[in-house]
Amino acid sequence: PDSITVGELAQRMAVQAGQVVKTLMKLGTMATVNQTIDGETAQLVVEEFGHTPKRVSESDIEEGLETAPDAEADMQPRAPVVTVMGHVDHGKTSLLDALRKTDVVAGEAGGITQHIGAYQVVMPGGNKVSFIDTPGHAAFSEMRARGANITDIVILVVAADDGIKQQTVEAINHAKAAEVPMVVAINKCDKPDADPDRVRQELLNYGVVTEEMGGETLAVECSASSGEGLEQLAEALTLQAEIQDLKANPDRAAEGTVVEAKLEKGRGPVATFLVQRGTLKKGDTFVVGNEYGRARALVNDRGDNVEAAYPSEPVEVLGLHGTPQAGDRFVVVDSEQRAREIAEHRQEKARETQSTAPSTGSLEQMLARI
Ligand code: GDP
Ligand code: MG
Repeated sequence: PDSITVGELAQRMAVQAGQVVKTLMKLGTMATVNQTIDGETAQLVVEEFGHTPKRVSESDIEEGLETAPDAEADMQPRAPVVTVMGHVDHGKTSLLDALRKTDVVAGEAGGITQHIGAYQVVMPGGNKVSFIDTPGHAAFSEMRARGANITDIVILVVAADDGIKQQTVEAINHAKAAEVPMVVAINKCDKPDADPDRVRQELLNYGVVTEEMGGETLAVECSASSGEGLEQLAEALTLQAEIQDLKANPDRAAEGTVVEAKLEKGRGPVATFLVQRGTLKKGDTFVVGNEYGRARALVNDRGDNVEAAYPSEPVEVLGLHGTPQAGDRFVVVDSEQRAREIAEHRQEKARETQSTAPSTGSLEQMLARI
């Protein structure tokens, strides 16, 4: 089931079949219009087209990315991937810290490290939740603009003593635009002037109808300071995840998204990957954005070296040949040579786009580029 004909792929991307055949050739695969290619190859083709925004729109890329569906029988439940949003000072960072501390297995043995941009918490009750530790709408919309939709649930943090503010409204709009369901954390309920009812009331003005108001949005009264309500918040996340029936096939070549990447002294380019399908194994070769690499080491959010990372798990990856960008997709391919060819082809294309793009810089900058 994990395959598609060249013709069908072209049709879905609204391009001519000949263009797909040509792209396949560049990727080292010979196929005619009526031939079938595997999902992984199809995805690479789609990504190739994705780097030519003039030819294909964002929605087509999204559609194209779904060209390799998994059989229902292969799907297994996966943890929800959660991003925290809300107005400044309403307690996003405090809440993430408090939730991280609820981890029931971290215990004394080091616990979850802070340096990695995402981590997975085992909640009281045993359910896992993956958090993206980049509170901030910029990161969220930046990723979305680049076609990466990695969040399953947004925790909307609203301070009970302050109510809905400008960035709360922005967060609501972001979540709605991305069609990501929200769980509302009515934070700072320990404060004497906390008024959770007012928060629920105000949310109505923005089309967010909580359960108490007869709607379907889960809202939890909590306090990052006292720890009150955190267990209920964890339960709400689990419940929301169950409603969404989040699943992935762990038995396939991995793919997913870069959460963050940087060049580290002595370690080289290091990236945090969020695995979204399949299992990423140590030694796997992958294409990521315009770069490629071979997973020399995988380090989990506890700082341990691991052999593999499963769907919804964030993992730090060493062994990249260049530094990718947050929001870049990674796809495991079968050979290092092929990975390099694809990366080189993409870099070439990126250079072409750059050199034909009208310059917006100053004369000095232009000269510096030459
Ligand atoms: P952020 O800007 O949304 O990340 O907010 P922070 O987590 O930095 O919190 C802003 C301030 O609110 C800090 O001084 C926190 O100590 C405080 N704060 C956060 N959560 C709570 C809470 O539940 N109760 C009280 N009383 N203070 C809180
Ligand atoms: Mg903060």
